[in-house]
Amino acid sequence: MSTMVALAGNPNSGKTTLFNTLTGARQHVGNYPGVTVERKEGRYIENGLTLTLIDLPGMYSLTAYSMEELVARDFLVQEKPQAVVNIVDAANLERNLYLSIQFMELGMPICIALNMVDAAQKHGIEIDSEKLSKLLNVPVVPTVARNGRGKTELMAAAKRMIVANKPTVPLIISYGEDIDQAIADMEAEIAVSSATFHYPHRWLAIKFLETDPQILEHCEGQDPALFARLDSIAKRVTRHIADTLATYPEAVIADHRYGYIRSIIKQGVVVHHQELDQNRLFITDRIDSIVTNRFVGPLIMIAVIMALYQFTFTYSKVPMAWVENLFDGLSGFADSALSDGMLKSLIISGVIDGVGGVMGFVPLIVFMFLGISVLEDTGYLARVAFMFDRVFRSFGLHGSSVMPFIVSGGIAGGCAVPGVMAARTLKSRRERLATLLTAPFMNCGAKLPVFALLVAAFFAENEARVMLIITMVSWGGALLSAKLLRSTVIKGESTPFIMELPPYRLPTFRGLLMHTWERTRQYVKKAGTVILGISIILWALMTFPGLPETQQQMFEQQRETVMTAAPRGLKEQLGAIDSQEAEAALKYSIAGKIGTAMESVSQLAGFDWRTNIALVGGFAAKEVVVSTLGTAYSLGKVDPEETASLAETLANDPAWNPVVALSLMIFTIFYAPCFVTVVCIAREAGSWKWGAFSIIFNTALAFGLSVLVYQIGSTGIFGV
Ligand code: GDP
Ligand code: MG
Repeated sequence: MSTMVALAGNPNSGKTTLFNTLTGARQHVGNYPGVTVERKEGRYIENGLTLTLIDLPGMYSLTAYSMEELVARDFLVQEKPQAVVNIVDAANLERNLYLSIQFMELGMPICIALNMVDAAQKHGIEIDSEKLSKLLNVPVVPTVARNGRGKTELMAAAKRMIVANKPTVPLIISYGEDIDQAIADMEAEIAVSSATFHYPHRWLAIKFLETDPQILEHCEGQDPALFARLDSIAKRVTRHIADTLATYPEAVIADHRYGYIRSIIKQGVVVHHQELDQNRLFITDRIDSIVTNRFVGPLIMIAVIMALYQFTFTYSKVPMAWVENLFDGLSGFADSALSDGMLKSLIISGVIDGVGGVMGFVPLIVFMFLGISVLEDTGYLARVAFMFDRVFRSFGLHGSSVMPFIVSGGIAGGCAVPGVMAARTLKSRRERLATLLTAPFMNCGAKLPVFALLVAAFFAENEARVMLIITMVSWGGALLSAKLLRSTVIKGESTPFIMELPPYRLPTFRGLLMHTWERTRQYVKKAGTVILGISIILWALMTFPGLPETQQQMFEQQRETVMTAAPRGLKEQLGAIDSQEAEAALKYSIAGKIGTAMESVSQLAGFDWRTNIALVGGFAAKEVVVSTLGTAYSLGKVDPEETASLAETLANDPAWNPVVALSLMIFTIFYAPCFVTVVCIAREAGSWKWGAFSIIFNTALAFGLSVLVYQIGSTGIFGV
């Protein structure tokens, strides 16, 4: 069997010229089987190796828009040439690479002939082919097909590829959260179907979303049930994208491919001559040259994030007070409507003071999500990611690690579960592991109420500033941990990185509202279901078994003594005894005993037994830290008339102070990810070992840092 090499590229990139140069007179013209498109085949012989070259019809894309494209694609997929020489017009690099990227997504072994470098030079365009080759991870050989320059090197590169015969890994590009999720869902469906396809599953899913007619038909013929399932996923994401971005998946996919290409070109691949520079800069490029500038960029970024926090904390104050009043009202109503007993305690302390604490932050969450949606929909978030790219490599992470960090709540209010899944785009296993393990340090939406509560109680003057510090601490901690992990347990090479930069877009009002609403709804839904359930369990753990008879009698006796001996200040004294009894009961409960047992260690970080209960509960979901503190202080509280908010209660409690709050915030950033995230980490890393590792490593790190902050802070050095 002879070795087959296909020549493929955009129309007018010089395929035929190159083909003629390479094959000389040894060519043969026929038709592709079944179609009337001309097929030119020729031989290239060198050092005893005979290559059969096929001049494929010109095409812009691998989606079958035209007969030529269909023929070329069928040839590639069915005949599986040993190598594809992809001819790229150097003067139109961006548009031509669009096809190259698709070959790579299909997993084709390609070698790029960077053709017409002579013409490009005349236009003042110089291309660093070595850099391009390194970034794309495929051979790139500059050629001038017209005079044969570079043809020997090109064929040598193709030969090397054929001889090495390395299996190619399909390129994976992220198409944004919505489409990536749809692709993952579709891949899962395809994987469990019994139908067999010639294409990689991911590629099939992408083509499905691009509504490639041939793929749709092929899939429907192979497995109608699968087709229906894929179709419903495609319809869902199409509708979603129409609603939020006012466009369709195909356009988003093309945008991201171009973004990917632009980011490669931006890294110094194309060098323009000075005099031609001005009119080649597009608006996006011009904005980017400032916004992602090495020096000005980070300052702008900090200012933007600070403005986001300022906006959030300032405007959420008033609606938060409304929500608080609402829950106070509910509490008062429940108090008068229910008779004393277990049910009343469950409703008031477990549900209203527990879940209410989490719900109280809904306005803050809404404003934060709205701000994040603006940053995301305009494309600014992608610039933030772009800037971190540079930093990330020096910490053993990859450029593609930035998105998982941001999705996990890098700026605020994300979730580590999709964040961890976004790490799938990382090809290197070590870098993926490092990302999986450190992305949960970001400040997800569930940690926000914890910070908001403590900031309101102890740093009410500087909310936005403290929030900015928290964000910086979490990034710093994540990067340093990544460095630590990458130089110990997951040591290894770094791979080159490429970062996408989608064009700037004016967000639509509707899109912003929808993004904000979706996120808020998830937060409220979680509070109303999962958090409610956990709150009730924790209430039970904090209520039972109740004080033993002997102790109850002891408090009863104290009350009697006071009543007979002290006619003045009777009410206060009785109240004091009541609250001592309530606290004793809480301490005696199952949760109380657990919390107290941990106190000897946890006090090093300034945490008392109540905080310990909250933190243990927080492993189920981080919001539970707030709801548990709410329940714990509610159970210990005797007078239901008293309507101090949880923040006020903490601020007035002698066991609390700003240093304890700082220590607790640090602990919350770093300690074990919530249960669902741990499951995801284990699944993505392919082993429970890594799930367990993240629990132990993170908690140890968190505790170490908290102890440090508390011990140093207690000396008064921070001035708080
Ligand atoms: P195809 O459509 O890809 O087969 O492209 P052709 O081989 O027909 O080439 C299109 C045009 O580009 C022709 O006029 C070629 O002479 C010209 N061309 C091809 N390669 C080069 C090159 O390396 N440099 C220059 N300046 N022109 C070239
Ligand atoms: Mg031609």
